[in-house]
Amino acid sequence: MTDTNPIRFEQSSREIERLYDRATTLARQPGSADRAADAWQAVVDHPCAWHHLDQADLYDELHQALRGAGRWDDAIAARRASIDAGYRSRPDPEADIAEILIDASRHNEAAALYEELRQRDPDDVWLYNSAAYAYTDVDNDLALQWVLDGIQVAIATGDHDQILPQLLDFTHTIWNNLNRQPDQHLLDRVTAFQADWSRPPPRPWPLTDPHHPERHPPCAHCGYHPDQPPEFPVTAPPAHPPTTPTATPDTARVAVAWFPHDAYLEATKRWPNFDGYDADGDHQAYSRRIEANTKALATIHGHNPSIAPVDITELIDYATEHDHDPGDGAARAGLAAELARNGQAISWPPGRNEACWCRSGRKYKKCCGPTPPRSFDDPQPGTSG
Ligand SMILES: [Zn+2]
Ligand SMILES: [Zn+2]
Repeated sequence: MTDTNPIRFEQSSREIERLYDRATTLARQPGSADRAADAWQAVVDHPCAWHHLDQADLYDELHQALRGAGRWDDAIAARRASIDAGYRSRPDPEADIAEILIDASRHNEAAALYEELRQRDPDDVWLYNSAAYAYTDVDNDLALQWVLDGIQVAIATGDHDQILPQLLDFTHTIWNNLNRQPDQHLLDRVTAFQADWSRPPPRPWPLTDPHHPERHPPCAHCGYHPDQPPEFPVTAPPAHPPTTPTATPDTARVAVAWFPHDAYLEATKRWPNFDGYDADGDHQAYSRRIEANTKALATIHGHNPSIAPVDITELIDYATEHDHDPGDGAARAGLAAELARNGQAISWPPGRNEACWCRSGRKYKKCCGPTPPRSFDDPQPGTSG
């Protein structure tokens, strides 16, 4: 920080925050696509944006806003800028460019890009899903071809992300659009595959490359020095004094117990209503409830809880050892705290563009991320997550 800087760091923080709030507000407002795009551009243009905000995410927002405003070429350029800044996703983020080309009726370019992406990663089921989606109602024959290819790939690769039900739903829609009878042979094949499905080893999820502002020289605008970054209050201070660990171990330890998919199905069989909701076997809805609870806890405690994946056998052993009922929230909470102490809990939240903690295979921002915190006025079903 020298006297030659036009503004002070604190002022740059306030300016960026104001521009960012304005852009996110406009982005949520129906009918203001153009203004939202301009507002995101204003964030990008601020000389301090590079050290305040993640560039991959920022250009991602800009690209979405420009796309919403129908400014196709600018949207494509912004998507490319986000990729250059480290944005990674499945499907490949260039699939968004192909979608924009379809929106812009540049069908030959779109088809060529999709083909290139397919060659780049032929096993990426999400690419087939996204292409089928983009072509639905535009060219239903092409949409059908993509979704059928996607089903083949999902079956051949073991359907790790459990995308088959979604692809099948899609296929029915397109058959319907084309006034075609469902292909019974295909349906039988999928049914047979699903009957003895077991999850194959995971495919690594392409994480967004972290932004490295330390490679930059100090900011000429506000004096921000990458080697001596100022301290930020990362989360809000606790709203009230923390509770004693013995009173509510699940919230005081701030590790939230969570059953992964198969354990959840087992848990709902053994302890229907274990989290205070009807055991409908909907693991996604259950994970969203965990997300809502975790966000609420983060607000109360002023730091982020972790999420502890709970295994049924482990839970029963823990409950026996500690004289708890294994179906009871106290047993889950106690085990969650132990898992957290042993470093076996998942840190939360993931980055917006990272794979969701709930293992759905989707990005956090497109999965549990948007779930609002549980309101403290909500009825509190069960004793813990
Ligand atoms: Zn600056
Ligand atoms: Zn999720």
